[in-house]
Amino acid sequence: MRGVSHLAFVALGANLADPLAQVRAAAAALADLPESRLRQVSSLYRTAPLGIRGQPDFINAVAALETWLDPQQLLDALFAVERRFGRRREFHHAPRTLDLDLLLYEERVLDSPRLRVPHPRMHLRAFVIAPLLEIAPLCRIPGRGTAAAWLPAVSQQAIEKLDAGGWQCLR
Ligand code: ADP
Ligand code: MG
Repeated sequence: MRGVSHLAFVALGANLADPLAQVRAAAAALADLPESRLRQVSSLYRTAPLGIRGQPDFINAVAALETWLDPQQLLDALFAVERRFGRRREFHHAPRTLDLDLLLYEERVLDSPRLRVPHPRMHLRAFVIAPLLEIAPLCRIPGRGTAAAWLPAVSQQAIEKLDAGGWQCLR
């Protein structure tokens, strides 16, 4: 791994087939991404699903990665992990074994349909803002100010921090 590394944040979510175990295993898989180092993972959070009713609850977390991949390479590596976890894309917002979203890549702003960074809805989701603030309290979302400023906007969303606690700097 040569040259300058980049700090990226990734959202993890699962709501099928033992989502707690899925998110824990996914965090371990992030530690094995190519050209990257897993720096930190938040606690796990349980949230009610948005958009579609009658689905099981989600388990969510946010991870900080140091990476030498560019944003598109990183997204492709995240998709490869999703596929390994057997994700099926049946419809938008469908229940999934694992969803990995690229939230932030340094202060980069990217706007193609394949890759939007910052993730366009991250500031509206308690299950992103709460774990993100846990591991990066001073985090800024390009174009949207500090992540902390969005906490009141998401405070009505049901979210429960699980006891397990986060862990840091795996390697
Ligand atoms: P969602 O995460 O919104 O439920 P999906 O995971 O099915 O939806 O992603 C749909 C599409 O969003 C993917 O094909 C992907 O290329 C695109 N996309 C755009 N920006 C991002 C991003 N920052 N992180 C992850 N996927 C993204
Ligand atoms: Mg996604």
